[in-house]
Amino acid sequence: MKYEIATLRGDGIGPEIVDEGVKVLRAAAAAVPGLDLEFNQLAGGANHYAEHGELAPESTWKTMESAHAILLGSMGHPDIRMPDGTEAQGHFIVNARKKLGLYAGVRPIKLYPGARGVDPEQTQVDLVLVRESTEGLFASFGGGAEIPGEVYADTMIVTRKGTERVARHAFDLARTRPGRPLDGERRVTCVDKANIFRSLAFFREVYDGVAAEYPDITADHALVDSFAMLLVQHPERYDVLVTENMFGDILSDLAAALVGGLGLAPSGDIGDDHAMFQPAHGSAPDIAGRDLANPVATIVSGRMMLDWLARRHRDDSLHAAADLVERAVVRTMESGALTADLGGDLSCSRFGDEVAATVRRLAAAAG
Ligand code: ATP
Repeated sequence: MKYEIATLRGDGIGPEIVDEGVKVLRAAAAAVPGLDLEFNQLAGGANHYAEHGELAPESTWKTMESAHAILLGSMGHPDIRMPDGTEAQGHFIVNARKKLGLYAGVRPIKLYPGARGVDPEQTQVDLVLVRESTEGLFASFGGGAEIPGEVYADTMIVTRKGTERVARHAFDLARTRPGRPLDGERRVTCVDKANIFRSLAFFREVYDGVAAEYPDITADHALVDSFAMLLVQHPERYDVLVTENMFGDILSDLAAALVGGLGLAPSGDIGDDHAMFQPAHGSAPDIAGRDLANPVATIVSGRMMLDWLARRHRDDSLHAAADLVERAVVRTMESGALTADLGGDLSCSRFGDEVAATVRRLAAAAG
């Protein structure tokens, strides 16, 4: 079957990393009979805003809505600002989440060979953070009460519907995983601040209601402040985390430090009918245009996209392609082929070449 992938390369290192992601995904599709991926490149981002006064043309939004899935590089430049002084990328992403109903921000945190986290002794990191992506402290984004120059307010909104659907997403995800590295126990941890904020006490109450529908999965809670410390000290205790929007935003970058940095952290913004996949990092203008970036986060985001499409369309050829991509990334990094951020000497494009060649080798070996 043919799948149309709306592709936004974006700004900074975005074009470089997306090109490598597409290279590897094309190699995987070519290796699996009957699978056809069509990448439809769309305009949008901070540079587009600077030139045209809009984040993306209407045609981009339309194609994002009609495509089977969306693959995004990274957007933004510190010098390109909206009239309110904020950077462009946040507006694009938050609009996309709202327009397309992308409520689950899924951020896998997994240690790949050749990568080391802040604690080099720690080898057991394999967890997924699920961030509620449409409400919480971002609900009033771009709005909120203000007395210009004096007072600004962003309000934390927690709804039953928003919390139930993201909690269900977390428990469903836990059922597909091997459990926490410590002992294989499947566990979903609700990370909140239920002892202080009634909105987050409600988040916990609704989460508990959903947890009761999943007796096969251990459900527990943690307070976000002490949890930040526990996550760094004992990542092996965690399997799936579910949390409010802003907490998830911060914790996912913290968690990226457990696995060797932002270049290795993929993400998916997932809803009931649409999904958008992109690296968790930004556009890294300091290294843009120099073929230096690490494309692993983008390549693995592409692998997440294939898995999501496979489940949605019940198409095993997509699972096969996803499996090839994942194994090729592991195999390539095991061989010592690494980019500069991990102490290696491969450029972004050479690393992409290596992974694509490994995809072809693995496929040929499997016959
Ligand atoms: P944003 O606010 O858009 O998320 P940011 O200011 O937090 O962006 P990033 O662009 O995510 O910052 O990157 C921070 C730094 O991490 C970069 O300056 C760069 O040095 C490094 N970095 C980020 N992504 C990569 C990558 N894929 N490969 C190598 N280094 C990276």
